[in-house]
Amino acid sequence: MLLSQQKSLEEILRSLEGETKVFLLGCGGCAESSGTGGKAQVLEMKGKLEEAGKKITGHTVVDFLCQKALVQSRLRGKVKEVKEAESLLVMTCGVGVQAVAAVTEKPVHPACNTIPLGGSRGEWKGTERCRECGDCVLDSTGGICPLTACSKFLLNGACGGTTKEGKCEVDQEMECGWKLIYERLERLGRLDQLRQVHEPKDHSKMIPPKGLRLSDRWALEQGR
Ligand code: SF4
Ligand code: SF4
Repeated sequence: MLLSQQKSLEEILRSLEGETKVFLLGCGGCAESSGTGGKAQVLEMKGKLEEAGKKITGHTVVDFLCQKALVQSRLRGKVKEVKEAESLLVMTCGVGVQAVAAVTEKPVHPACNTIPLGGSRGEWKGTERCRECGDCVLDSTGGICPLTACSKFLLNGACGGTTKEGKCEVDQEMECGWKLIYERLERLGRLDQLRQVHEPKDHSKMIPPKGLRLSDRWALEQGR
């Protein structure tokens, strides 16, 4: 389970600036349980974006947006609507947004922030990872997470240690995450995104909120 919270409508509209045609993707897994990206929220978002002058070319909810094979098969039935859209607004956790970016050549915008839960829990992990930073930046990095694709969690470009072959200096088995981000933004014609400077992460958003640190098991251990 990955917990998400919707970004404010203002932030979502800022990320869609300059685009009028948008395709909406929701998730019937964790995002539906979080109340951020199930069918009801997708329809609600459709209404809000239409009110703001956007054309929604289509929308769908995939059982688990983090499963690339499922996303691909669902989008195969929506080729026309996706093609018409300038971008996809993805209403789920960071892993789901990255999975959608990995199977499409359209810009993806995250509609949610993934909230830290701490500890381990049942997840079907694919290639994509999310550090649950509480303030998703995938909008400006081509849908590739700099906090998981870069060994040093850098937010504003490569460290200068990328090898000639494009590998990470920390682990040469890994592609340099910032090389991947650059290539993806180049393919999307969005290299201008690299001019955006990210402030250091607010680490208070990267620890589980107090209310979420308490669980039934925790209460049992405390003898409550
Ligand atoms: S920026 Fe990365 S770590 Fe933060 S919410 Fe998005 S995918 Fe997760
Ligand atoms: S080489 Fe690339 S992935 Fe590795 S730490 Fe530097 S910027 Fe990050």
